[in-house]
Amino acid sequence: MKKIGLPASLTVRELAERLGVTGTQLITYLMQNGVAAALNQSIDFDTAALAADHFGFEAESEEAAAREAAAGSSASGALRRRHPLLDLSGEDPSALVARPPVVAVLGHVDHGKTSILDRVRTTSVAAGEAGGITQRIGAYQVERQGRLITFIDTPGHAAFTAMRARGADVTDIAVLVVAADDGVMPQTDEAIHHIRSAGVPLIVAVNKVDKDGANPERVLQQLAEHEVVPESYGGDVPVVNTSALTGQGIEDLLDTILLVSDVVNSPRANPNRLAVGTVIDSELERGRGPVATVLVQNGTLRIGDNVVVGPVYGKVRALTDDAGRRVKEAGPSKPVQITGLTDVVTAGDILQVTETEKAARALAEQRTNEQRAKIAQPVRRITLSDFAAVQGETKTMTLVLKAEANGSLEALRSQVTKLEDPNVTIKIVGEGVGAVGEADVNLASVSGAIVIGFNVHPDERAKAAAEELGVDIRFYDVVYQVTDDIERSIKGMYEPTLIEVYQGRAEVRRVFMVDGKPAIAGCQVIDGRITRAATCTVRRDGREVGRGKIDALKRFRDDVREVARGYECGISLEGFTEFAEGDVIETHVTEQQNL
Ligand code: GDP
Repeated sequence: MKKIGLPASLTVRELAERLGVTGTQLITYLMQNGVAAALNQSIDFDTAALAADHFGFEAESEEAAAREAAAGSSASGALRRRHPLLDLSGEDPSALVARPPVVAVLGHVDHGKTSILDRVRTTSVAAGEAGGITQRIGAYQVERQGRLITFIDTPGHAAFTAMRARGADVTDIAVLVVAADDGVMPQTDEAIHHIRSAGVPLIVAVNKVDKDGANPERVLQQLAEHEVVPESYGGDVPVVNTSALTGQGIEDLLDTILLVSDVVNSPRANPNRLAVGTVIDSELERGRGPVATVLVQNGTLRIGDNVVVGPVYGKVRALTDDAGRRVKEAGPSKPVQITGLTDVVTAGDILQVTETEKAARALAEQRTNEQRAKIAQPVRRITLSDFAAVQGETKTMTLVLKAEANGSLEALRSQVTKLEDPNVTIKIVGEGVGAVGEADVNLASVSGAIVIGFNVHPDERAKAAAEELGVDIRFYDVVYQVTDDIERSIKGMYEPTLIEVYQGRAEVRRVFMVDGKPAIAGCQVIDGRITRAATCTVRRDGREVGRGKIDALKRFRDDVREVARGYECGISLEGFTEFAEGDVIETHVTEQQNL
């Protein structure tokens, strides 16, 4: 049979053209099968496929084919790249100038992230700013040695990863805060994973060195065990001893940031172009409407610029900097709060200036439509079974592990890593004790990982994020089930769990005899639909009296693929013939269960 690709719906006229038959031929066939449709009416894929079958074509869904292709390409490039608008490779190198580094502060709770951010802010107020009414807008700049440094003022890795999951890579340098009296803790470890997977240079601030129980040397040893090797140990990670309380080491930290910025990544941008930036924060403010803090990353943002942020557009009405001053423009690495947007926007979304208002509006509309289409279409996930499918070319299986206690987490890790074989390495990009949270899902998304939850559940936000970002989360309560599944998928023989899905019901109205025995049930479909591929259960007064696959499904004399509710059809089953009037035939199809 010839293959033909068909969309989710098309008109009778289009279908006739594609099948090379006349409209009348097609309409006649459809009428015979209970579908009364005029030439310019639309029919769905299933109906079109039935007709195509009748005229000698095997129908394939065009969309499914396109989705497959798209999923194939994303599976091989699982790691997200920098947003295309932020890619500087198209810029003329001579137009690029140095911009201040953007720094994020991460670390375990209570180790002093907020205190360090506050201390930095008050000790190094940019020149001329002293006495100015500072306000928190989600990011700020300080001056050191006549140079600027931008700090993201939302400590914690949740915000950091949430932004990355949405394709925004704002951070140039990460500062990992570890309290000298407490040492490396679970969230320190988690932060290390986040920083490593973002691929940004790392500086360690060993904080609270003023405290009695402070033991900076022990912190260094612990870090080395976590593959963060301090310079003093011959590694490449600079370490600064700080006290947010006394201010000790804060200037040293700033100097180190500038040094790393110069030596490792020397961030650049072209100030002479339309601005592109990332939203750090956004809210609805009384009297001002929607406001958003944007970190400009390339170009210069000005009052009056037409902007589009995700599905929202607007015209910049006012720009306010981190000292609460009105400014006319903001260049690369400068955080500013903007007003003039038509709605609140999402942190991590990209802001883009367009030449005209019309272009901003059109882009916003296009994205709104895309979002709607995305909601209507289930997201493709990277799943264990996909991994099996692309096993030939994939060399690393990336996982995020979560368990209810340290002991089981360790057991899980050791069992899982044992499964490595010569062709496949297992990389654990994140692990922790506790429920699967949004941060885990975000990390999995940016690193192309699967989340394994052991005796834990996801919270609501994690579920929503997994849905939005297409992350596969799997739950287990027995270790060997995890290892079995992973092992199977590694070997490329992961078998999907098959489930039976109810499809429809038909009532037997008449029984036709063949050679004197009941053989064919003359039915009416009373619910759903009946398809040829289905498995049937025959019930009499609610009790099951037989089972079997459909042998023949007919309307009148024709074999058909499917019969919809309300229509009559003839059904015969493999291995069951004892139909009686009044029997109900219930059909199921087997589908692959996706988590
Ligand atoms: P975060 O949760 O990492 O943001 O930690 P915070 O900045 O909120 O600090 C937690 C606690 O540690 C607060 O009570 C701070 O006052 C205290 N703290 C932070 N840094 C230092 C420090 O360098 N020395 C001392 N002695 N206490 C500190």
